[in-house]
Amino acid sequence: MPFELAPLPWPASALEPAIDARTMEIHHGRHHATYVSKLNAALEGHADLAAKSITDLCRTIDRVPEAIRTAVRNNGGGHFNHDLFWSVMAPPAQGGGGAPSGSLAREIDRAFGSVDAFRTKFAEAAVNRFGSGWAWLGVRSDGALCVCSTPNQDNPLMAALVDCPCTPILGLDVWEHAYYLHYQNRRPDYVTAWWSVVNWAEVARRHAAVRA
Ligand code: MN
Repeated sequence: MPFELAPLPWPASALEPAIDARTMEIHHGRHHATYVSKLNAALEGHADLAAKSITDLCRTIDRVPEAIRTAVRNNGGGHFNHDLFWSVMAPPAQGGGGAPSGSLAREIDRAFGSVDAFRTKFAEAAVNRFGSGWAWLGVRSDGALCVCSTPNQDNPLMAALVDCPCTPILGLDVWEHAYYLHYQNRRPDYVTAWWSVVNWAEVARRHAAVRA
């Protein structure tokens, strides 16, 4: 199988109380697992596509044959998005929460005015996404940071499909499967709690990798 489900980088209960263990188990073990298995199924007989990285597959989604494009868009997007999501979260004891620092903090100030103004803009993107989707912090081709939102399992790497092409370095899943067991309809409370587990060191690493 070309694509695999990696284990979570911490125990399923590690992000409590922001994200409860049961939600995490179902989210990773069923939802993410299903995106991976359906992506692999869609790519059967397409060895050239199966050999690509998940990042390249998203970036070149418009060149995927039409017969499997929707399956790759939904499930390849789902795989990339969740891999990123797990990586940009950590329990407080392992660096989760707090605030960005260094060059990432300076770039956030430059783009949004302040870290607080960035958090407000990002939270608005997350809360106002109608239905299922994601909020993103990304690096545009000119190097500037941007905040945007995409529906379903689209992401800003899919330049041909989205109105905010960029390289995402932080993403927040606002599908109901990400929060409904604990928060029910209170998506704003989930977004607020989520800041307490953001792994800013990983976001900074991704930012530096894009800028390198
Ligand atoms: Mn999800």
